[in-house]
Amino acid sequence: RIEAVEPTLNAFLHVSAEEALTTAAEVDKIRVAGGAEAEKLHPLAGVPIAIKDLIVTKGQPTTAASKILEGWMSPYDATVVEKIREAKLPILGKTNLDEFAMGSSTEHSAFGPTRNPWDIERIPGGSGGGSAAAVAAFEAPLALGTDTGGSIREPGAFTGTVGTKPTYGGVSRYGAIAMASSLDQIGPVTRTVEDAALLHELIGGHDPKDSTSLPEPVPALVDAARTHDVAGKKIGVIKQLATGEGYQQGVLDAFNSSLDALREAGAEIVEVDCPSFDYALGAYYLIMPSEASSNLARYDGVRYGTRVLPEEGPLTIERVMGATRAAGFGEEVKRRIILGTYALSAGYYDAYYGSAQKIRTLIQRDFDAAFEQADVLISPTAPTVAFKMGEKTDDPMAMYLNDIATIPANLAGIPGINVPAGLSDGLPVGIQFLAPAKEDARVYHAAAALE
Ligand code: GLN
Repeated sequence: RIEAVEPTLNAFLHVSAEEALTTAAEVDKIRVAGGAEAEKLHPLAGVPIAIKDLIVTKGQPTTAASKILEGWMSPYDATVVEKIREAKLPILGKTNLDEFAMGSSTEHSAFGPTRNPWDIERIPGGSGGGSAAAVAAFEAPLALGTDTGGSIREPGAFTGTVGTKPTYGGVSRYGAIAMASSLDQIGPVTRTVEDAALLHELIGGHDPKDSTSLPEPVPALVDAARTHDVAGKKIGVIKQLATGEGYQQGVLDAFNSSLDALREAGAEIVEVDCPSFDYALGAYYLIMPSEASSNLARYDGVRYGTRVLPEEGPLTIERVMGATRAAGFGEEVKRRIILGTYALSAGYYDAYYGSAQKIRTLIQRDFDAAFEQADVLISPTAPTVAFKMGEKTDDPMAMYLNDIATIPANLAGIPGINVPAGLSDGLPVGIQFLAPAKEDARVYHAAAALE
């Protein structure tokens, strides 16, 4: 399947067929032999998985879709990859993304865009467009993504796949190339809610290698995903994210049909007000670049990957670093490094970064108040269906506006899931459920009711 569709889709940056087949054969052998070994196999053993190329893997290249990491091989596995190998899921390869996960369309990859399998003239969302397209196109039944501002959920909405952003700290970030460390989370990309729960349970849980990892064990998510029952549950429609400018009618229609379905299933739909969400996008696009500008300082032409020497003049460290970063980073990455460096600079810090952090607190308080009125919250995952390739590449603001519904969850550290909710003009629409921190089971419970 990968061979057949990759020339069109470009969902993978690296395919590890041999490794996948070896693991699959190993699982087969254990199953055929039967006995205690076979009994012990994880329920996902033998089920192939694709991994977003922002997550490091031993023995396979990791590029973050950036020229600056071209040819770099990680000397170690991310914790989630270690768990996947231990459970014997064959690893199919590494999937495409916007460079360093900065983008909403996968058009900012240094290795060419990924196309949406539903309409190859359209983008698959981003930054995790490769993982979402691979799952949607039946190249892989499971994939891993990372979600800093929606990069699992928005591609899920645009490709009709399920994707979860776990509670911050619920899944180890050890080995996820840092974009914005206070927002980043690894999560599952799948075709069904139950598959997402199975994968989430496998990769979740405490990890001493990640200082922000929660001490609790991963909650019982698979059980929640199997309970197709929302009778008596209160579901809060976030007023600020369910109407207004930029929302396509087709998206709102699908959203309203989902509300009807939930009502029919016995849920009570209430409206919740989160007034500070109007500032969420502005706060995110200061905090994210600020953290990224600091995290990306490590690409100095010395420690990792590419090194570019200046064409003339003395070979000082600063000039080598400058030439490497000028050639190695793409335009969007440079834009954010400059924005973040500016926002963090003396004299501007309080005005920009400081204000953004205050907004972040207000958003958390809005969520706290909303969860006093509802068990889970709901909104469309994105204001539109998948847009045409090239439509927003020249207008960063238009691209950023697309993230309006997904970023509040990252700013608050709470879990969210995207679940397909029908079609608009033949293109998938996604609905997201949000729950309080550590209550990831609630989003699976609610999402399963819509399947
Ligand atoms: N689209 C968002 C951004 O560009 C989200 C990125 C992400 O979640 N990695 O920042």
